[in-house]
Amino acid sequence: MPQSAELFLETAGPLSVYLSQRAEPAIAWPQLDSDTDADVVVIGGGFTGLSCALSLAESGVRTVLLEAREIGWGASGRAWGQVAAAAKFMPAQIEKDFPPEIAARINRAAETAPDVVFNLVKKHDIRCDAVRSGNLIAAHNPAKEQWVRTTAQDLQRRGYPVRLLDAAETQQFTGSQRYRSALLDERGGALNPLGYARGLARAAGQAGVETYTQSPFTSLQKSGSGWRVATPHGSVTAGQVVFATGAFTGDLLGQQTQREIIPVRAYQAVSQPLAPELLSQILPGGQPLNDTRRMFSGVRIWPDGRLHVGLDGPLFRHHADGWLSGATQRLQMMFPQLTTLNWAYHWAGWVDMTVDHYPRLHRLAPGVLAAYGFSGRGVAIGTLMGRDLAALARGEEEDRLVHPLTDVRPLWFHAVHRPLVSSLTARYRLEDRLNDARYGREPSSLHP
Ligand SMILES: Cc1cc2nc3c(=O)[nH]c(=O)nc-3n(C[C@H](O)[C@H](O)[C@H](O)COP(=O)(O)OP(=O)(O)OC[C@H]3O[C@@H](n4cnc5c(N)ncnc54)[C@H](O)[C@@H]3O)c2cc1C
Repeated sequence: MPQSAELFLETAGPLSVYLSQRAEPAIAWPQLDSDTDADVVVIGGGFTGLSCALSLAESGVRTVLLEAREIGWGASGRAWGQVAAAAKFMPAQIEKDFPPEIAARINRAAETAPDVVFNLVKKHDIRCDAVRSGNLIAAHNPAKEQWVRTTAQDLQRRGYPVRLLDAAETQQFTGSQRYRSALLDERGGALNPLGYARGLARAAGQAGVETYTQSPFTSLQKSGSGWRVATPHGSVTAGQVVFATGAFTGDLLGQQTQREIIPVRAYQAVSQPLAPELLSQILPGGQPLNDTRRMFSGVRIWPDGRLHVGLDGPLFRHHADGWLSGATQRLQMMFPQLTTLNWAYHWAGWVDMTVDHYPRLHRLAPGVLAAYGFSGRGVAIGTLMGRDLAALARGEEEDRLVHPLTDVRPLWFHAVHRPLVSSLTARYRLEDRLNDARYGREPSSLHP
């Protein structure tokens, strides 16, 4: 495994105690300590790999899943937990970015992705606090109010269950006077991502997947008509290999796959339970709330009354002193009624960003597939991509895939991506701060 991919695994940091306690217990999967074989070996125990393995086993394919650490160790077990309609961008943007046939497939998938996730949770009785409450996207300045309006109209015209909330409704749904309008997308919701990952792993095991944890793939070699995947204490020989290793993907088969991904750090914190009078005001309907600022920030309330914030911080460092005080300031600006905010848990994870925020799906060689780059939207898209990977591994037609198979296109600026992304981010943060200064310090009814 290339050194730098290993380094991202090393610096992932501990999983969240909070998410772990609320999830179904982790199964003690064994370590691979012998040589075995399968039809397909899936590498990576996140949503993508687990959904792929489950789908394969359900169709009778002998499947082995290898996970370097433990199930959910990557982004999947650390996410904020929003289940958004699959696409990172709205349908009109996707129609600009892709040829009509592909755009139509991505947009169709967006409609169904949350159904796929919530149906899996129900079918396998996964303990993950899943709520189909919808998602809120609030506009943080007048230009974005216009965007929210036209987007809501466009989505409604397409027949999606989306509501445009006016100022009074926005305040009622969010509990914040910071915003004057918001879009409520009733397709989405939220869940405990670590619980979802563990439940998928359990379901995959019940369907026949042989799962090994603490079993990192270390090398891949051709073996007869298939491939031999080695780990430190064993190996799997299989006809097909699927890589679902997210931000931890190194260069594979001599191709510069690692240079398609920009791993950035994302931060999460969960508070002590809020007082009942605050809970009756802040997100009383249980919807996760994003806004339209340049840098991502999300707030949700858990069933035990704790507030959970997902926020940006130092992008490339794996530890972030002082991040929590920034989170407190941001929340108190959104919700001045939060006069004190006591944080109980915090954690962070690496997000596999791509330059255009669309995922990548590759056939690196006959029998070797890879998918990554969910850019912070992997709960639903990763689950769908796992199904597409399974379909490809079964030899099904490519014309039903959500995202097309493409060649590896390494970023020409990858060697200097950190300073470039840092300076772009500094500009975005300044823009966000200026908007907050201009529109965030007064009740929304006083906005110009
Ligand atoms: C803090 C944070 C918040 C997020 N919030 C949201 C959200 O609210 N909603 C949303 O939709 N998305 C969110 N995302 C993004 C989402 O979590 C990811 O897109 C998704 O989990 C990607 O799943 P994956 O299976 O492709 O990758 P991962 O979950 O990263 O899984 C890859 C797995 O591969 C394993 N692995 C790596 N190398 C090897 C190896 N050599 N051998 C074997 N195994 C290996 C890793 O240990 C890991 O378990 C968030 C991400 C982060 C980090």
